[in-house]
Amino acid sequence: MKNDRPKLLSVVSPAFCEASNIGPFLTATMEVLERIRTTRGLDWEIILVDDGSTDDTWERMRQETERRPHLRCLRFSRNFGKEAAIAAGLAAAKGDVVITLDSDLQHPPELIEKMLDIWAQGNVEIVDARKAVRQRESSGSRLFANWYYNCFKALTECDLKESSDFKLLDRRVVEAVKSLPERKRFFRGITAWMGFRHGEVLFEPPDRVNGQTRWSVSQRIALAVDSMTSFSSKPILLIWGLTAIFYIFSIVVGGEAIWTHIQGNASTGFTTVILLVLLTGSAIMTALCVLSTYIHQTFQEIKGRPSHLISDTAESADHAASDTP
Ligand code: UDP
Ligand code: MG
Repeated sequence: MKNDRPKLLSVVSPAFCEASNIGPFLTATMEVLERIRTTRGLDWEIILVDDGSTDDTWERMRQETERRPHLRCLRFSRNFGKEAAIAAGLAAAKGDVVITLDSDLQHPPELIEKMLDIWAQGNVEIVDARKAVRQRESSGSRLFANWYYNCFKALTECDLKESSDFKLLDRRVVEAVKSLPERKRFFRGITAWMGFRHGEVLFEPPDRVNGQTRWSVSQRIALAVDSMTSFSSKPILLIWGLTAIFYIFSIVVGGEAIWTHIQGNASTGFTTVILLVLLTGSAIMTALCVLSTYIHQTFQEIKGRPSHLISDTAESADHAASDTP
């Protein structure tokens, strides 16, 4: 389906302690958006979400609303995290098409035009900006990222390697994201899980010019654990694997204890104690398997994700006519 005659483009950007970046970010982004408006007749709006910054970010945002057009700013009551900020921005966005990007200029706004070109062809509903190279970082951080992406893929079958939160979403996708009832959202994972047709552009993230990243090591670990456990209950099913290993071990050790007893080489009571320990262990492991299965099922239900998402519909003319009153 061709994405015909979109009227409004929304840009959503989270900001945490980005006082020094707000001005340059708005200047660079608005220049691109104005060019888009002139060449394609697409109006635009920018939604900035201050994620409870402790510096002058909010003050800067307020000042910018006084001197720049089409700008809306939201301020969180405290730091709720980037995921929450993106969710708030998407909820506020009114555009037929929405771009999400960081406010520290590590997501080059010039790429928006290329993303729009891909979307305008009408073959995709999501355009992902993927990093051609990772941004400069410590080797520990790179190692951790690789480990994380491998685990995430093994658990969820979604490959997020070199992915970013820089995305273009068709209105249909924004509505689908908003319709998911889960409160703990992991934007990159959700957009991969939802399906729809994806296009891709590559970019090389520039170094930060102003400010510094605010992600602490503990926050990164918390995000990794949260995103994996909020996305997949497979870790809990590891208990099944452990139980299988325990059963094999029990059969070998138990068999050996009985054989020694039959041969008359076992000390009195030794076989009974070994068998009791193995039987008790097996009973506990089996009970854990049953419990983990129910927890797994409960997790799926509580998440309340829809069984499917529809990206398009088509119907024959007579069917459409019979619907009209
Ligand atoms: N950010 C946010 N809340 C946070 C941390 C970061 O809204 O708690 C924003 C930040 O202002 C930036 C984007 O998320 O626009 C990416 O953050 P950062 O540059 O620190 O991360 P990195 O680029 O190192 O992944
Ligand atoms: Mg950054």
